[in-house]
Amino acid sequence: MSVPFEGGCLCGAVRYRCSAEPDRVYYCHCTNCRKVSGTAFHTGVMVRRETFELLTGEPRSYDVPADSGNVVSHAFCPTCGGQLYVSSSGRPTHLSIKAGSLDDPSWLQPVGRIWSQSAQPWGLAQGDIEVFDKGFGN
Ligand SMILES: [Zn+2]
Ligand SMILES: [Zn+2]
Repeated sequence: MSVPFEGGCLCGAVRYRCSAEPDRVYYCHCTNCRKVSGTAFHTGVMVRRETFELLTGEPRSYDVPADSGNVVSHAFCPTCGGQLYVSSSGRPTHLSIKAGSLDDPSWLQPVGRIWSQSAQPWGLAQGDIEVFDKGFGN
């Protein structure tokens, strides 16, 4: 991989840069991630907030209570609706960037699969990874 790495939404209105390697890349099979992604799971690139910088555009966001009990804020492009990142009240020091928004996500190496209890049989994240029924540490 190369740092910094950049990404953005589909229409290009919102662009971001991250100056450090992610702390963790993971799949989330929770119901909210399924709904918001429109498919089976979310691939999250967890970075420290201070390493994340918006370059152009202003994402909009909305808050949703998560299965974990935390409130998760979902940031998206107001023009194209592209999902950009989420932040959780349970981990205010970090953002979880939507992996699909990276310009080059080919280097990502997910280490685990969370909320596996909600996973769909037709859309299971694969690989030699740790599996958690709920969030990390459960
Ligand atoms: Zn956009
Ligand atoms: Zn989730």
